[in-house]
Amino acid sequence: MKKLSLIIPVLMIIACQQKNKHTTAANDQQLVSDPHSFSNPAIAYVKHLDLDLNVDFEKQQINGKASWTIDNKAKAKEIIFDNSKLNIEKITLGPDETPTTFSFGKEEEFIGKALKVAISPETDRVHVYYTTDKQASALQWLTPQQTAGKKHPYLFTQSESIAARSWIPCQDSPGIRFTYNAVVTVPKALLALMSAENPTIKNDSGVYHFKQVHAIPSYLLALAVGDIAFKAVDSRTGVYAEPLVLQKAVWEFADMGKMVTAAEKLYGPYRWGRYDLLVLPPSFPFGGMENPNLTFITPTIIAGDRSLVSIICHELAHSWSGNLVTNATWNDFWLNEGFTNYFERRIDEELYGKKEADMQAVFARHALDDAIADMGATSKDTHLKTDYTGRNPDEGTNDIAYEKGYFFLRSIEAAVGREKFDAFLRGYFDGHAFHSLTTEQFLDYLNKHLIQGDPKLEQQIDVKAWVYGPGIPANIVAVGAERFKVIDALLAKWQKTGQVSGLSKEIVSSNEKRYFISRLPADLTAVQMSALDATFHFTASNNTDVQLAWYTLAIRHHYGAADQRIRAYLIENGRMWHIIPLYKELLKTPEGAKTAKDIYKTARGNYHPMTYLAIDKLLK
Ligand SMILES: [Zn+2]
Repeated sequence: MKKLSLIIPVLMIIACQQKNKHTTAANDQQLVSDPHSFSNPAIAYVKHLDLDLNVDFEKQQINGKASWTIDNKAKAKEIIFDNSKLNIEKITLGPDETPTTFSFGKEEEFIGKALKVAISPETDRVHVYYTTDKQASALQWLTPQQTAGKKHPYLFTQSESIAARSWIPCQDSPGIRFTYNAVVTVPKALLALMSAENPTIKNDSGVYHFKQVHAIPSYLLALAVGDIAFKAVDSRTGVYAEPLVLQKAVWEFADMGKMVTAAEKLYGPYRWGRYDLLVLPPSFPFGGMENPNLTFITPTIIAGDRSLVSIICHELAHSWSGNLVTNATWNDFWLNEGFTNYFERRIDEELYGKKEADMQAVFARHALDDAIADMGATSKDTHLKTDYTGRNPDEGTNDIAYEKGYFFLRSIEAAVGREKFDAFLRGYFDGHAFHSLTTEQFLDYLNKHLIQGDPKLEQQIDVKAWVYGPGIPANIVAVGAERFKVIDALLAKWQKTGQVSGLSKEIVSSNEKRYFISRLPADLTAVQMSALDATFHFTASNNTDVQLAWYTLAIRHHYGAADQRIRAYLIENGRMWHIIPLYKELLKTPEGAKTAKDIYKTARGNYHPMTYLAIDKLLK
């Protein structure tokens, strides 16, 4: 308590300073060209958004008005917004709302079409009246049946990477930042939440007000509407969830406050005010999404034993790497995710110790090796700086950005020492708060503040090989985990003796189990699986990491005892990268393919469009 009271005044001062800073950030944009946005911010760009939206569950439509405050520095006659399938009713300008004309550019695959609005050199406000399309890629409308409570419908958005343009006409590039206010009207039984300062209880009017005082890019615009309740974890963290899930979730995420404190100790103050979680229904396609102030999180990490909470460390870390300092284009995505994986594991280490962090690092290396084997060691897509021009930037959501990015930062840490690297990172976050950066701007900063022309250090880090070269550079740090050596020895003993008793007393944590399962021999028999299952109860596990690993083996080795659980898992769980590998495994045999198609008939309706479109392709 003493420590806390000492910390608070300091944070308040920093928060106040930040308030001034974000205004500067919104006015002082790093204007870079982005192949995934039609907007031309060098001519006219947005600074602030006032949203007035109505959420219509019957029509599965959002309608309303987006009023943009713009900077028309170049005195242009046109401002360009991104738009995907929006139905634009009218557009007006300025305080008097003078009607203006608009036109659309040519439709382009993945990125939609430009919305070109005629403005005058004096225009400072543009009001767009619009409705969303049924196919809006950012919106998932859930039926009551698809929620935990089964009584009310639910809506959530997923704007990253380039889907914000499907529910709000915007300059949809991560290099363009703006503040926002919103008024959202929803059915009276439901609560609305956004990536902003949020209400904690429902009101009688169904009208909710939001304010995001920090300049954010469009991919961090988020909205959720449902039968949602709130419970505080501590004074600045808490959990939103459906009432049925809330108690369990609050228990599972009890460490949230400690995580924020550990993160601040590493890289400076948390600048967003509150840090809350929203536990989504199971169709949420990701582990988590770092929407500012309100991380959206999959319910599949509620294992009942707090064993999967490190994903919160990841989403929280994005409050610095990603939300505070942002990749300027999706070709610089590693700046968001590589930094976040590094930061996540440092928080993990602070809270759960080096043994835990070491295990994570071993998995990271496996994931990187797999990604490179998949993509080809010479593929340009294995460079950290990528080029997804003409492709969907979602394709870049792979372990090059996440794990090669992570290992690049590890190799810098190894070259300069942790203390110096931490000071560098702290300065990087402070110096670029509420700004977006390209890879080149980061490298320039790295040269100026860390490498400082030292040729030996430059060679040791080998930036070029990491950022502009394929595969895995030679100076990657070696990783290993003491716990995994113990498990390797236990495995060897089991293979010799067939004795399973005692194993489950040694192999306890989620990571240990995952590792053990991943190291089981390729010629594993169903009889051996049955013996292991009797000891570990892997088939009945509620830990989705363990389930994914075990069910993959069960399919591969025709372990029929897991069939029913696999079926239920695939129907109930919509987390994309926790189900797609199982469909892929099933598709390896004709009879598995039949099972996959049969399960999918029931499961498809529970998945997010992003998920079912990917699986449609697999199963076609
Ligand atoms: Zn992330």
